[in-house]
Amino acid sequence: MLGTARSTLGVGENVTRLVPYRPGKPIEEVKRELGLTDVIKLASNENPLGPSALAVQAIRAAAEQVSLYPEGSCHELRGALAAHLGVPGDHLTIGNGSDEIIQLLGLVFLEPGDEVVQAHPSFVRYESAATLNGADCVKVPLRDWAHDLPAMADRITARTRLVFVANPNNPTGTMVTHSEVVRLADAIPDRAVLVMDEAYHEYVERADYPDTLKLVREGRNLVVLRTFSKIHGLAGLRVGYGIARPEITGYLNQVREPFNVNLVAQAAAVAALRDAEHPRRSREVNAAGRRQFYATLDALGLAYAPSEANFVWMDVGRECGLVFQYLLRGGVITRTGDIFGADTWLRVTVGTPEQNERFLGLLKEVVGQ
Ligand code: PMP
Repeated sequence: MLGTARSTLGVGENVTRLVPYRPGKPIEEVKRELGLTDVIKLASNENPLGPSALAVQAIRAAAEQVSLYPEGSCHELRGALAAHLGVPGDHLTIGNGSDEIIQLLGLVFLEPGDEVVQAHPSFVRYESAATLNGADCVKVPLRDWAHDLPAMADRITARTRLVFVANPNNPTGTMVTHSEVVRLADAIPDRAVLVMDEAYHEYVERADYPDTLKLVREGRNLVVLRTFSKIHGLAGLRVGYGIARPEITGYLNQVREPFNVNLVAQAAAVAALRDAEHPRRSREVNAAGRRQFYATLDALGLAYAPSEANFVWMDVGRECGLVFQYLLRGGVITRTGDIFGADTWLRVTVGTPEQNERFLGLLKEVVGQ
C-alpha cells in the first residue's frame, strides 16, 4: 500500500509516484530532430489505412455543429453500438478512449490498500489506475509472452478488486482462449471485477478467441473494453467503450464527466460502424503484413511472439535501443521493450506493404552489421 507522505505542495504519493505515459515518438518531432522529411510511425498501433471515408464525411459535417455541447448520453452512438453488438444500450459506458474507461474503473472500484492483478508486461495504464487510487498492482509474469491466467487466478486475494487481461496483449500480441477466460472468470470473487481489454480483437483470426459478450450476458463480474482507435482508425478522436451488466455500467456512468465524448467523435464513430468494408480491408492488410514480417524474421533467424494483433513483438537479438536508433535514422519509429525489462525486444506496428518493406529493409541492414 502506498504511504501517506505528501509533497511540499501537499500532493499525495498516489500522484507523485505516478509514472507518466510515454507515447510513441511523434512523426513531426523525429523530422525536426533528425532533419528527415519522410518519417513513418510504426509505434502506436494505429491503422495505416487511416479512418473510413464515411467517418471522414461525418467529421466534416459535424464540424459545423461544434458550438453545441455533445449529447452527454451518446444517444445515437449508444444505439448504434447496442445494435452492432447485440446488447442493450444500458450495458454500455462510452469514454474518451478506452483509456478513460480504465481510469473510471479505478475511480469506481479502487480504494487505498486494494489490489489490482495484471500480467507483466502488459498495457501500462492498468498500473496507473491502481497507483492513482492508492491500490497495489500485483504483476504476474507472462509465460511464453502470453497471459498465465491460472497464475493470475492464484494471486487473487480478498483485497483484489480488478483483474486486467489485455486480449490480445499489448505489447506481445498474444491471446488467451475462451476456455481459459471462463476458468479465470469462475475464480473472480463477488467483490472483484474481471476486465477483458479487447482493443485489438478485430484483428484476431483464431476461432478459439473468447466470446466475452456471452459471459457479460451471463451476468458475470466482467467488463469488456473495446475501442474505435485501432481497426476503425479514429485514435485521434478518442472513443472507446466498456460493455458490462447495468449495475457496473451504472457506476461507471455515475463518475464520468457529463460530456466526456466530444461531438465530432460521436458522429465519426456512428459513421464508422456503418462501414463494414473498411474494417474488413484493414484486417486483410494487417494479416498480410504480419506474414510479411514473419517471412523476414524467419529468414533472419529472429524470434517473435505469434501475433493476433496489428503489431509484432520481436527479439532483434541485440540491444533494442541501438536498433531503435538505427531505424529512427532511417525514418521508422518503433517501440523498445526495455521499459519492460525485455532489452532485446521491439514492438513494431504492422503498416502498409510499403511501410513494412521499409522497416524490414532497415532491420536486415542493422541485424546484418
Ligand atoms: N488497451 C490496450 C491494450 C491498448 O493497447 C490501448 C491503446 N494503446 C488502449 C487500451 C487504449 O486505447 P484508446 O484509449 O485509444 O481507446
